[in-house]
Amino acid sequence: MKSKPLVIDGHLDLAMNALEWNRDLRWQVTDIRNNEKGMTDKPDRGNGTVSFTSMRQGNVFLCMATQIARYVKPESKIPGWNSPEQAWAQTQGQLAWYRSMEEEGEMVQIRNIEQLEKHIKLWETATGNLPLGFILSLEGADSIISSKHLETAFNYGLRAIGLSHFGPGIYAGGTDSAEGLSSRGKALLKEIEKSGMILDTTHLCDESFWEVMNLYHGPLWASHNNCRKFVPHRRQFSDEQIRELIAREAVIGVALDAWMLVPDWISGKSTPENREVSLKQVINNIDHICQLSGDSLHAAIGSDLDGAFGTEQCPQEVDTIADLRKIPPLLSEIGFSEEDINSVMSQNWIWFLRKNLGTE
Ligand SMILES: [Zn+2]
Repeated sequence: MKSKPLVIDGHLDLAMNALEWNRDLRWQVTDIRNNEKGMTDKPDRGNGTVSFTSMRQGNVFLCMATQIARYVKPESKIPGWNSPEQAWAQTQGQLAWYRSMEEEGEMVQIRNIEQLEKHIKLWETATGNLPLGFILSLEGADSIISSKHLETAFNYGLRAIGLSHFGPGIYAGGTDSAEGLSSRGKALLKEIEKSGMILDTTHLCDESFWEVMNLYHGPLWASHNNCRKFVPHRRQFSDEQIRELIAREAVIGVALDAWMLVPDWISGKSTPENREVSLKQVINNIDHICQLSGDSLHAAIGSDLDGAFGTEQCPQEVDTIADLRKIPPLLSEIGFSEEDINSVMSQNWIWFLRKNLGTE
């Protein structure tokens, strides 16, 4: 056994970073940062926190890794593709990058229980540069042109899917919108339920969240979601929503994005220092979910650490993703047992996957 507990991150946008940020994640974080000196095209240039090496340092042996591409109507202010077909093509490019990382031995896709058990065993027993496991997840379903595309996606190993991202979507209202599910959204939800995929409820607006709860009976989780109790914005879940997720045996990954940790974050003005953003707020979110469930079986990590932000917008103690290992001692300080800590760091996701990943 490893001396440090294994960690699962419920949400990383690895392929987006590789293809849109042009980051070769095989480089060290410091080299990625140096290479971006002087670049101003993205707010987090030079501040990245994620690379394969830093994931290995932090024992992040498995993650839910996304494909992500949004469709937007021409009049929309949110950036995105002008057609679902372009969005689909973007996700296929991302898939090709994951495949090439598998060929290089850097990553390994986990599609079923057998592969999951094999991967856990490998990390518990072997040492060295081990491949990082990933469950392929689609953040927002706009790129799914038809149910045929959903089937294609399942066949290439897509195992989790969210209906929406930011703004109104083809299938459901996402963050910062107030629309429920479209008729196509309701039909897709049925297809997802039949498919054996896991539904990711993150980024559903309140209207679509409650519609989904009425219509959907399959497995669901929230890959990267914090509590509205601390940041009163609809991107975060209310206690009522968290209770509903717990009742459905969901796991909720707590995110490390500063604007989801302290209220009234102002992009470009607020800093982790002047807003005192720390892992303490991450711990508070984990603890609050545990208080609502009365146990430690539903809270987990879904860091989102490479979700278009870096050190300029995450807890001060986090230099790279390896610093997720600073979470266990903080949980211990507030009375979490070793078993509770393992639940949060990896076992809750493992338990959920054992129950809901099929054999295909
Ligand atoms: Zn997200």
